[in-house]
Amino acid sequence: MNYDIIIIGSGPGGYVAAIRASQLGKKVAIVEKAEIGGVCLNWGCIPTKALLKSSSVVKTIKDAAKFGVKVTDSTIEFEKIIKRSRQIASQMSKGVDFLFKKNEIIVHTGFGKLIDKNTVEVNNEGEIQQITAPKIIIATGAKSRQLPNLKIDGEKIIGYRQALNLQKQPESMLVVGSGAIGTELAFFYATLGTKVTIVELLPTVVPLEDEEVSEEILKALKKAKIKVHTKTLVESVDLNGEKCVATLKSDDKTEQIEADIVLSAVGISPNTENIGLEKLGIETDRGFIKVDKFYRTNVENIYAIGDVIPTPALAHVASAEGINCVEKIAGIDVKPINYNNIPSGIFTDPEVGSAGLTEKQATEAGYNIKVGKFPFSALGKATAIGDRNGFAKLIFNTEDDKLLGAHLVGHGATDMISELVVARETQATSHQILKSVHPHPTMSEAIMEAAAAANNEAIHL
Ligand SMILES: Cc1cc2nc3c(=O)[nH]c(=O)nc-3n(C[C@H](O)[C@H](O)[C@H](O)COP(=O)(O)OP(=O)(O)OC[C@H]3O[C@@H](n4cnc5c(N)ncnc54)[C@H](O)[C@@H]3O)c2cc1C
Repeated sequence: MNYDIIIIGSGPGGYVAAIRASQLGKKVAIVEKAEIGGVCLNWGCIPTKALLKSSSVVKTIKDAAKFGVKVTDSTIEFEKIIKRSRQIASQMSKGVDFLFKKNEIIVHTGFGKLIDKNTVEVNNEGEIQQITAPKIIIATGAKSRQLPNLKIDGEKIIGYRQALNLQKQPESMLVVGSGAIGTELAFFYATLGTKVTIVELLPTVVPLEDEEVSEEILKALKKAKIKVHTKTLVESVDLNGEKCVATLKSDDKTEQIEADIVLSAVGISPNTENIGLEKLGIETDRGFIKVDKFYRTNVENIYAIGDVIPTPALAHVASAEGINCVEKIAGIDVKPINYNNIPSGIFTDPEVGSAGLTEKQATEAGYNIKVGKFPFSALGKATAIGDRNGFAKLIFNTEDDKLLGAHLVGHGATDMISELVVARETQATSHQILKSVHPHPTMSEAIMEAAAAANNEAIHL
C-alpha cells in the first residue's frame, strides 16, 4: 500500500503530524501497536489530570467548612476514581480516532518496523503487511526508565502506568523521583490518605524548576504530610517480605523505610528497540534518535519527533514538532521551534508553570538581571477563593528590559504561563507587561504586578 507519509506512533506527536499532513493534502498512514492517542491521552497527561481532579474534590470537601459549607459525610471510592480516569482516557482516544476518520487517515494496527527508507512492516500479532511512502516519521514515544536496582515488576515496584490503574489504594507508597510525574502522583495519593514518601537524588524537589519554586513545592509537599528525602539515593529495595523495604542512602546516613508499593518515577527511555534503526544506520544519542532542526534523521526520508528524540518530553513539544516536521516536508518555509521558550506545567497543588531561564541559569549565563516577584497572597482573587499560596517571579535582562524567564507557582499557574510564553516570543519588555492592563480580580494580575515589582513599581506590595 502506498502513502505520501507513514507515521509510526499515534501519540500527540504522531496524531497531530498526521492531521496536519492530511490538511496539507497528503495521503497519510498511522501505524499504532496499542491505544490511539499514545501515552499522553491514555497513560499520561489526561488520566493524571482526571485523578488530580478527584483529589482536589477530596481537598475541597475537607476544607468546605472554611467556606461555610458543612459536609457531614463523604467516602473515597478509589475504584470509581480510577474508573473515571480510565473512561476519560478512553473517551480522548476515541476522539482522536474520530479525527483520523474525518481527515481520511488510515490506521494500521500493529508493531511498525522500518525495512528500508521507504517501507514499514506492520506486524499485527503475526499478520504481516508492508506499506510504503517517500517519507516516514518515527513518533514511537517513550516508556518509564528503569534503574538497575529498581526494576519495575508491575506489582510491588510500579511505573506510572500501574500507578494510574491500581485496583486498591495502597496504605503507603514510596515515590522515587520528584519530577512532574512523581510529585503529581504523590499529591494524588497523599490527598486520598496514602502515606507517601518521596526520595530525590538531587538537592531540590522538582529539580528543573527555579529554586524558589522548588522551595514552595517542598512546603506544599510537607503540608500534604508527604515525607521528602532529598540528596538521597534508593540503594536497594527488599521485596521478600509483605512490605517493600527500601534502603536509602544520603551523605550522612543509611536508613530503611517500609512501603506497600514503590513508584519509580525517574524519567523515560525512548522506544527505539526493534524498529529497524540499526539496519538503516539511523544515529542515536544515549538512545534518543538524533535529528536536525527540521526533524530529519541522518537517513534520507526518515524523520523523528516527540519523546523519541532528545527534546523536552512534553506533549505540546511533540505536537509542535509534528506540525513543523510535516509542514517542512510539504515545502512550507517554517521557522524552527524555539526550544528556549517551551512552557512546562506541573499540576501539583499548588501548580507550577514556567518558561525560559531560572534565576540561577540567567546569572550563570552572565546576564545582568532584575527580578520581580509578587505573592499571590496579595491578590484579591486569591484571597476570595481561599488559595493564597504561591507567587509570580519574572526575570528580566536589565540591558534591554526583556523577559528572560517566568516562574509561576500557585492557583492557575499552568494556564497563566501562556501569556509569558507569548511575551517572550514577542520580546516584550517589563514595561510592556506592566502597562498591559490585566483584568480584576484575577490571578493574572500577579504577572502585571511582578513586572512592576521588577521596577519597584508594584502597587499592592
Ligand atoms: C504520567 C505522565 C503524565 C504526563 N503529563 C504530562 C502533562 O501534563 N503535560 C505534558 O505536556 N506532557 C505530559 N506527559 C508527557 C507526554 O505524555 C509525552 O511527552 C507525550 O505523550 C509524547 O508524545 P509522543 O507522540 O512522542 O509519544 P507517545 O505519546 O509515547 O506515543 C507513542 C505511540 O507510539 C506507539 N508505538 C511505539 N512503538 C511503536 C511501534 N514500533 N509500532 C507501532 N506503534 C508504536 C505507542 O504505542 C504510543 O501509542 C506525561 C507523561 C506521563 C507518563
